[in-house]
Amino acid sequence: MLTVTLLNSRSNSGEIVVDTTPPVIEMIGGDALTMAVGDVLEEPRIIAYDDSSIPKVEIENHVNITQEGEYKINYVATDDADNVTFAEREVKVIRPSGRIYLTFDDGPSDSTAALLDTLNKNGVKATFFVTGYGDDALIKREHDEGHTVGLHSMSHNYSYIYANKNNYWADLNAVQDRVQNITGQHTNIIRFPGGSSNMVSSVYDGGQRIMSALVNEVSERGYAYFDWNIDSDDAGGATTADEVYNNVVSALGNGGEYVVLQHDVKPYSVDAVDRIIQYGLEHGFVFSGLKESSFAAHHGVNN
Ligand SMILES: [Zn+2]
Repeated sequence: MLTVTLLNSRSNSGEIVVDTTPPVIEMIGGDALTMAVGDVLEEPRIIAYDDSSIPKVEIENHVNITQEGEYKINYVATDDADNVTFAEREVKVIRPSGRIYLTFDDGPSDSTAALLDTLNKNGVKATFFVTGYGDDALIKREHDEGHTVGLHSMSHNYSYIYANKNNYWADLNAVQDRVQNITGQHTNIIRFPGGSSNMVSSVYDGGQRIMSALVNEVSERGYAYFDWNIDSDDAGGATTADEVYNNVVSALGNGGEYVVLQHDVKPYSVDAVDRIIQYGLEHGFVFSGLKESSFAAHHGVNN
């Protein structure tokens, strides 16, 4: 905003205000995306704002998701004084060798913001199986930036959630409420603490084989549960970014679908993500957030 003071010949002063500040366009969720032919391109978000008016925004989406190529989405924001700002987002559509679903459990945490920045920088979507811990604002960011927010556990307390089915559902409903309050959306995407193959539940369930019951019951109630077929081992023996990276990339074949287990409460695991993405993109994979219909990598149920 520029203020111009005008003086007339009789020295009476008057003031007019000239708006010379163009609107601002902020890209939400990265300014370059890599997607697979045939994927659904949900319109990536922008926020446009201006210091003196609500800007008018025009979007030209040139992406042909049915055909390989490098495309652009162009954005033009114009304010009331006709100041104009342009922005563009690149969308690369490839015929991938395979698909990687990066998944992060137990957050959000102090490491989640840096992880979101890394995902955005690479134009990659991931999935967060969240808990009752961490900042609401981080779950909001996960959602707003186009990632999948799934449910893990409110308490993550095995002795409580696996003591009986009522406890399991009370805990899941609590984290559902939390997510719904933050994102405005109900989600049907879940991951059992410990995965569906966990045996820790047998310590607490009094011999009722609670996992066998729960895998059926969650499906009956409309939930889709997801396990993994690559374990980064970041909750086990891997305690450095190098180990996490090696565990993940050494398990990737030349194609196929992979659900990768990581934890965004582990800073060294978050530190490995940039290199994992580079490796995946260089080897022709696309990265996607999980949808209800995605490959679920179900484990055998042992309890
Ligand atoms: Zn967990």
